[in-house]
Amino acid sequence: MRLLLVGPPGAGKGTQAAMICTKLGIPHISTGAMFREAMAKGTKQGQKAKEYIEAGQLVPDDVTVEIVKERLMESDCSQGFLLDGFPRTVAQAQVLDGILEELGIKLDKVISIELPEEKILERLTGRRVCTKCGATYHTQYNPPLQEGKCNECQSDLIQRSDDTEATVKRRLVVYREETAPVITFYDKKELVCHIDGDKPISQVLNSVGQCIGRDL
Ligand code: ADP
Ligand code: AMP
Repeated sequence: MRLLLVGPPGAGKGTQAAMICTKLGIPHISTGAMFREAMAKGTKQGQKAKEYIEAGQLVPDDVTVEIVKERLMESDCSQGFLLDGFPRTVAQAQVLDGILEELGIKLDKVISIELPEEKILERLTGRRVCTKCGATYHTQYNPPLQEGKCNECQSDLIQRSDDTEATVKRRLVVYREETAPVITFYDKKELVCHIDGDKPISQVLNSVGQCIGRDL
């Protein structure tokens, strides 16, 4: 199955993606996670991405499209994939159309997780992520079993440097102006399931299952 997961920052994309991909056995391709990995390794791409990410801006399309294109060519994507957080601009969506056409494949569904803006700030300021495996928690809504430690690998949990109040506000403006039109782009192709993200994690997962016709 070939899926896109879109929605504002904090909607729950990463949380749902991890569960969907485990169940379906497809790779989870998160451009944000790929940039964070490149930043941690200090690669050229990582250094370039860092200034944009920490300013709450989008990384330029040419850099982003390149890493996605390379990733989609890898053999584990041949049976399906879930793209999380890409495309984030209509230009990226148009390039993705071209890549898929070249590969002779089509998207099955675009899953749009929706969350009112007033809920986003508390989701993101309470988010904690594992320094090692990237698992995501929330201090209130999805706390780890042991405070500050990952359930999966017991590594330390941290707050992302772009999850501060000021940066989140900038990310929301960018979302409204640049990413929301991506949903309209796919609505015109009748590919989108609109899912209410303001529900418990398990309920959102059920709605995703209904959207793709699979028991998750
Ligand atoms: P995104 O990938 O869309 O930015 P995340 O999956 O990282 O969002 O979720 C943002 C924060 O909200 C995390 O701290 C996560 O644990 C929490 N969260 C995710 N889904 C829900 C939900 N349905 N209800 C409450 N909190 C949630
Ligand atoms: P995320 O982990 O999805 O919240 O992404 C974190 C940050 O990485 C975003 O705020 C952007 O700065 C950058 N980023 C992730 N995906 C993209 C994309 N498709 N286009 C441009 N920038 C991106």
